[in-house]
Amino acid sequence: MTCESCVDAVRSALLGVRGVHSVEVDLAREQVVVESVLTSQEVQALIESTGRHAVLKGMGSTEQDLGAAVAILDGASSVKGVVRFLQSSPECCLIDGTIDGLEPGLHGLHVHELGDLTLDCLSCGEHFNPFKKQHGAPEDLERHVGDLGNILVGPDGRASFRLEDNQLKVWDIIGRSIVVSSGEDDLGKGGHPLSKETGNSGERLACGIIARSAGLFKNPKRICACDGVSLWEERARTLSALERRETQTPAANL
Ligand SMILES: [Zn+2]
Repeated sequence: MTCESCVDAVRSALLGVRGVHSVEVDLAREQVVVESVLTSQEVQALIESTGRHAVLKGMGSTEQDLGAAVAILDGASSVKGVVRFLQSSPECCLIDGTIDGLEPGLHGLHVHELGDLTLDCLSCGEHFNPFKKQHGAPEDLERHVGDLGNILVGPDGRASFRLEDNQLKVWDIIGRSIVVSSGEDDLGKGGHPLSKETGNSGERLACGIIARSAGLFKNPKRICACDGVSLWEERARTLSALERRETQTPAANL
């Protein structure tokens, strides 16, 4: 953003959109703060609809800083993604993510007990289950704490989601892992022998260790000295090496 007309364009792209509660644009810092119930990817797409690039700098709550975490999902398959966790209140954990390379349809998403990738996703242990319950749906009382249900993948192979969970706590899951499955989680109701254990959601396609991350604007440093876009890009395009060197995109903070 270079001038007031950029500020106006960005503001008008966001304001009035259902789910956007407030927008603050800081031209000097080239920074946009959006209070919203949309996914970070939806907010990014709205800003980029003005023809400008946007990078997510962080997610946070204006009230309390109860912790945030992030996991980069990767695996033997071509599935890749980023999932962010924000404890927005003692009761509510917000889970915002984008995962690419999946078959269209529903896929189980679970926090697993171990942050161990020595055998890829196979060494992540079982679903995080500190209270020794049976597998279930996110809204069930009888569920593993790590049971996040299903995410919906569109025809383009991408799932973009925002979940709110009242059992998962950011401080309990740092150092553990998150895994996306090849199939649909039957939420403990499928009648299959694995239904009450794993939701019978198939193979583990991609996984990542959940790491503590900084709160909103608490980590201004760049990830990579070249351009800050060293990780998998959450855009629907890939940058060639040349474009990456030339891009002025600011660093994404995790
Ligand atoms: Zn489970």
